[in-house]
Amino acid sequence: MSECGASGPSSIECRQIADLLGDYLEGALPRETRELIEWHIEGCAPCVAFVNTYRGTIDAAKKLREVEIPHELKKRLLTVLRTQRVPKP
Ligand SMILES: [Zn+2]
Repeated sequence: MSECGASGPSSIECRQIADLLGDYLEGALPRETRELIEWHIEGCAPCVAFVNTYRGTIDAAKKLREVEIPHELKKRLLTVLRTQRVPKP
């Protein structure tokens, strides 16, 4: 509970939602942030569509993982994914 009005749910906008969505779906965000995102998405149709698309992509990736992938290729994919993860300032 905070009465500080400097930052509220409205401070999170669609762009930020899109930015945080990966972490959100991975469950990597603190509860407070997750709640802000959910709060925003509930009242924002474009973001709902975006989340669904994003989820679909993740599901597709999971299905791909279930398919047999040669170890060498898997390793390479993981390396690529790791190098693409750029830490935010
Ligand atoms: Zn939105």
